[in-house]
Amino acid sequence: MEQLDIKSLYEDELKEKMISLGEKPFKGKQLYEWLHKKAVGSYAQMSNLSASLREKLQEQEPLTSLEVVEVQTSKIDGTQKYLFRLSDGHVIESVWMKYKHGNSVCISSQVGCRMGCRFCASTIGGLTRNLKPSEMLDQIYRIQELTGERVSNVVVMGTGEPLDNYDNLIRFIRILSDEKGQNLSQRNITVSTCGIVPRIRQLAEEGLTITLALSLHAPNDEKRKELMPIAYKYSLSEVLPACAYYFEKTGRRLTFEYSLVGGKNDSEEDARQLAHLIGGLNCHVNLIPVNPIKERDFVQSGKKVIENFKNKLEKYKINVTIRREMGRDIDGACGQLRKSYLDKRENLS
Ligand code: SAH
Repeated sequence: MEQLDIKSLYEDELKEKMISLGEKPFKGKQLYEWLHKKAVGSYAQMSNLSASLREKLQEQEPLTSLEVVEVQTSKIDGTQKYLFRLSDGHVIESVWMKYKHGNSVCISSQVGCRMGCRFCASTIGGLTRNLKPSEMLDQIYRIQELTGERVSNVVVMGTGEPLDNYDNLIRFIRILSDEKGQNLSQRNITVSTCGIVPRIRQLAEEGLTITLALSLHAPNDEKRKELMPIAYKYSLSEVLPACAYYFEKTGRRLTFEYSLVGGKNDSEEDARQLAHLIGGLNCHVNLIPVNPIKERDFVQSGKKVIENFKNKLEKYKINVTIRREMGRDIDGACGQLRKSYLDKRENLS
């Protein structure tokens, strides 16, 4: 197993660490609160830990943080895109969105991605590495610090496939929702997956109450394979029962994401097939007009086509919304800010 840094450890593990350093276990509780409740950036700020303990920690477990490389702010709706540099120099992006009901952050779970979805900018350079739990948490902690506002909703829908980084994802969720940390309700956390069947089933067993979002994007295997290579590995006849199992175990309504790609998956027949496919499930469909990326020639469906698709689903009594596009005027879609940054850097060298 990879080595976990101190900000990725559970409270009990910090207590054990304190014992190994010759300290009282309750120091572990205090350290955990500094790291996750107050989310401070340095040991120097941890005033109830002795100077010698802080020194020892600084030496053995240097704290890492995220450095802001770039912030883009939408003039339309205030959405902010952050490009962060990790301690090893790689860059990731996170998005901060302001809604009436609270602030939402979309975080990355990996540096790059190996799932290869055809319309997605995040996967073009492949997977570099997994993010540690601390690096997922820090996206939220840093944004709260920078905006001075509390985050109430978290969606794991940025770069990466969260279920391809399963153990770190679970740690991240448990620490983020811990009442001794940020105490963010699990009901306000959504994890989006391209559909890794065994991991969906495992997630159902964790005893969590997070929302599962499945990137469906097609009404049958044939069309899904054209958009998402993962469809060659797991057919819909495996993916959808896994989702149904998730609902059965957690009671959480499922979300299906469906990116509408002009001429590919947006016909009335597609809508009809989709309705039949998911009609028996307790679910909600989120239609996303595809955000065209320059590396591919996919186009958005017209406004009318999108409306028709929605109406058709409604006729079949499917809950459906069209995702409001946030930050249209900034590099809005998944992975595009990071991609354009990496492209620029490559052109300079
Ligand atoms: N790997 C996860 C989460 C990351 S992507 C997953 O596949 O669900 C978050 C969502 O954005 C997914 O539904 C993904 O398919 C979609 N997406 C990625 N690029 C997009 C684009 N250019 N236009 C529209 N949706 C996109």
